[in-house]
Amino acid sequence: MSIHLLLHNLLYAFTVLLSISVILLIFFKAKNSVEKTTLILAFIFAIIFVVSHVLGVSVANGELSRRILMFNLVNLFLPVLTSHFVFSFIGKLKEQKYVIISAYIVSISLLIFFLLNPHYFLATSVLKMYFPNYYVAGPYYFLMLIYFFLLVVYAFVVMRKAYVVSDSINKNRIKYFSIALFLAYLFGSIDFLLIYNIQIDPLWGFLFVPLFTIPFTYAIIHYELMDIRVIAKKAFVYIVISAVIGFILVFLDYINNLIIKSSPGFPNWASSVILALITSIGLLFIWRRIRETDFLKYEFIDVITHKFRTPLTAIKWSSESLMESAPEGIREEISHIQKSANSLVDLTNLLANLSVADEKTFGYNFVKLDLGNLIKNLISESSEKIKAKDITLLPLSYSSIFVLADEQKIKFVFQTLLDNAISYTKQGGRISFETSVLNKEKVTVKITDTGIGIGEEEIKHIFTKFYRTESSKKADTEGMGIGLYLTQKIVEKHGGKTWVKSEGNSKGSSFFVSLPILKD
Ligand code: ADP
Repeated sequence: MSIHLLLHNLLYAFTVLLSISVILLIFFKAKNSVEKTTLILAFIFAIIFVVSHVLGVSVANGELSRRILMFNLVNLFLPVLTSHFVFSFIGKLKEQKYVIISAYIVSISLLIFFLLNPHYFLATSVLKMYFPNYYVAGPYYFLMLIYFFLLVVYAFVVMRKAYVVSDSINKNRIKYFSIALFLAYLFGSIDFLLIYNIQIDPLWGFLFVPLFTIPFTYAIIHYELMDIRVIAKKAFVYIVISAVIGFILVFLDYINNLIIKSSPGFPNWASSVILALITSIGLLFIWRRIRETDFLKYEFIDVITHKFRTPLTAIKWSSESLMESAPEGIREEISHIQKSANSLVDLTNLLANLSVADEKTFGYNFVKLDLGNLIKNLISESSEKIKAKDITLLPLSYSSIFVLADEQKIKFVFQTLLDNAISYTKQGGRISFETSVLNKEKVTVKITDTGIGIGEEEIKHIFTKFYRTESSKKADTEGMGIGLYLTQKIVEKHGGKTWVKSEGNSKGSSFFVSLPILKD
């Protein structure tokens, strides 16, 4: 196989890989079922086309090549699937119903016609450019091209009309999607030129999927193109980055081969070293960009929380001094202000913690700490809340157990677990704290309650950021689902572990925190 043909085939293989990633992404994450099905089918057909194209133009026998290239007939369905997707995407499905139905009928009729008369579609392949065998159009091959062209142009016209009357977000969605589609079809059509003996290298045709994916990804990220969730977006960006790196490697390898061939005196390790260097620089750049966005995120939350704190403290102080001199009638109102200001302060503190939760041990101040004593103090601080709910707290034997910990953060951990136990336990329930020591190495604190419990399906998500169980949403409408996430992060930073057990809904729960004991 000539190097040129090999490169052609490799680049098409890369296109297939990229298409598979897009299919997986859409399959698992997109929500609208019409858009999902049409786009996935379009990509599958594109893959069938690419595979048959690569095989068909590489085989040595002209008749075998023709038979393989007959799979080109899948192209009859690309424009109709694209239009179907487009009409659903811009909300014109009902309006364009008859166009879509007619288009499917035309596609199927043409397919049947060409299957019954294959030689009208393609004649025996012949040598063209560097391909041992390339398409030779049959007398009616042009029908597919005209149909293809007309339908795609029609889809663009409808999109253009929708664009004019859309709001700015939808304008951007349509804009990027049209660019993606335009590039895909423009480059995808290059393959057809050589069919009619126009000597343009069909190699450029492989760009149709990558060029489609880039604006498509951009629109997904910035304009919620497919209603895809944030995590999926990140995953998709990584897939595209890896695919682009793969593409660069193939390309550089090709250049490497060319250099070695054209200048035999050139040391053959040199290009590999340059290749490795370029790849490392590329990866480093991407890694730094990813870190940078994380830092920006933390910085953003940090600035917000600090800017919040000052005015909040002012509200707290002013309301406290107001309270002292206020007449009886408005005291209740002022106490509402105080309560709300306090919740906002708590919330700000939580956000501040959240911003550093993923950082290594940034902001941690480790000191020797008596864990038993800390829990004892916490319980006594919460005694009013416990009494108010008529909860029985089983006594804990307060032996001194020393750990190396950040006092504020570890206090936050046990405060969260205790507050949750109180919030999610009904009037008259029971809560217990137990500590156990394993081999003088680890201490495990177990907090058990007789509250609402956690369902089997929900328990694995309990430490996830912002996650709340269905029954907890009814029991306490104020919760945010941040406390346990932070708890786990903080305990991990202390070299410990957190886990939970529950028999199920309404059967109570036990939360566990284990920490390494400080050795003398
Ligand atoms: P919040 O309590 O503010 O919602 P957390 O992160 O502390 O946030 O808890 C996350 C979720 O875990 C809660 O919303 C609740 O669904 C569940 N949960 C936590 N503690 C308990 C408990 N003791 N009993 C039952 N469910 C709990």
